[in-house]
Amino acid sequence: MTDTPNETEAALTGVPATPPKDDTPKSIGDRKLKPATLMMGHGFDPALSEGSLKPPIFLTSTFVFPSAAAGKRHFEGVTGKRPGGAEGLVYSRFNGPNQEILEDRLAVWEEAEDALAFSSGMSAIATLFLSMVEPGDTIVHSGPLYAATETLIGKVLGRFGVRWLDFPAGATREEIDAVMAKAAGSGRVALIYLESPANPTNALVDVEAVVASRDAAFPNGEKPPIAIDNTFLGPLWHKPLQHGADIVVYSLTKYAGGHSDLVAGGVLGSKEHINTIRSMRNTIGTICDPNTAWMLLRSLETLELRMSRAGENAAKVCAYLRDHAKVERVGYLGFLEGTDARQADIYRRHCSGGGSTFSLYLKGGEAEAFRFLDALKIAKLAVSLGGTETLASHPAGMTHLSVPEARKAALGITDNLVRISIGVEDADDLIADFEQALDAI
Ligand SMILES: *Cc1c(COP(=O)(O)O)cnc(C)c1O
Repeated sequence: MTDTPNETEAALTGVPATPPKDDTPKSIGDRKLKPATLMMGHGFDPALSEGSLKPPIFLTSTFVFPSAAAGKRHFEGVTGKRPGGAEGLVYSRFNGPNQEILEDRLAVWEEAEDALAFSSGMSAIATLFLSMVEPGDTIVHSGPLYAATETLIGKVLGRFGVRWLDFPAGATREEIDAVMAKAAGSGRVALIYLESPANPTNALVDVEAVVASRDAAFPNGEKPPIAIDNTFLGPLWHKPLQHGADIVVYSLTKYAGGHSDLVAGGVLGSKEHINTIRSMRNTIGTICDPNTAWMLLRSLETLELRMSRAGENAAKVCAYLRDHAKVERVGYLGFLEGTDARQADIYRRHCSGGGSTFSLYLKGGEAEAFRFLDALKIAKLAVSLGGTETLASHPAGMTHLSVPEARKAALGITDNLVRISIGVEDADDLIADFEQALDAI
């Protein structure tokens, strides 16, 4: 016996606690308020916290029932013995006030029915997979994926008899159809998992084509859900739920957190999918902690400001870099027009901005790239992206060092490639920094 709540039943039904009441306006007349406005109050009722304007951090592992009958009523709701679901909070592995407010606010950005917060992007992705796959299932995915996601699918889930089939991120409808047909003919497809733009190639996935291909390959009965990692462009410049994806995954460590001071993840989608994933999260405890949730609430208040500024800065920096004599090529989504007709078409249909993370191919090789990186004065040498500060790294020698040579070549991870994530500094200061670093080569 344990003195924690009835874990099997409570966890497996995955019914959410009822969020605290909140009377912040969602519209004025017929004007629906924008996410940037809702981030200041949505999901939080100051009256429940002594009138505190901002949510306090709720550091508690468990929540008090007002009476034994209320406790029983709670578990009747959780276990489905009483319709209407759970009411209120019970234990902090399942949820807490800070995480619930965060989840309500995350959902706002993509008009999702519901959302979940996680301790990292990878714990979000792992919990999603564990909630959906069984031995013998296939995961169909776009490639390349974030390296740890590929490890999770290929090496970890592979140990439990889960198989995978992939298509290149930039694949055409016909190429996607071929992989989808092969997967549909080889047993149950548990999940279609996408990442767009792919890291580090920046290739965009045609989400609308994947949806059409899935619907054609699975005309009757159960269609595998389509999940997509939206860390690089979301939630400002890419909203995949609007293009037919079912589930959106985030590393909130990146743009959403935005200050390079926390690690967290998120999943957004319909109540039905979210409840399936929630029950796995309840079981294994991959929720983020209250302090991290509180920091993310602060981050979300400036999300649009930060991403807009970073996006404008990146456009200016890339325009400067593109014409520089020591630069071979700049792989920036804002430059697709006129270079790659198919990718430009996907961009026009799916994206509202080019983001602030891009690939810089210098003339030369590793020596030139290293001299450039070591000369940078403002930009810091670090992996990760989406923070207020500009970061630069060398994929071939750092994040992708262990990738086999042939695959590196296929992905365009060459020794002269530098990955850059632009922050919210002054754009002309950044250009001055890149200029002197290019001179130093
Ligand atoms: C960083 C990242 C992840 C993993 O997120 P963590 O928060 O580091 O666990 C997943 N996908 C993408 C695209 C990422 O950039």
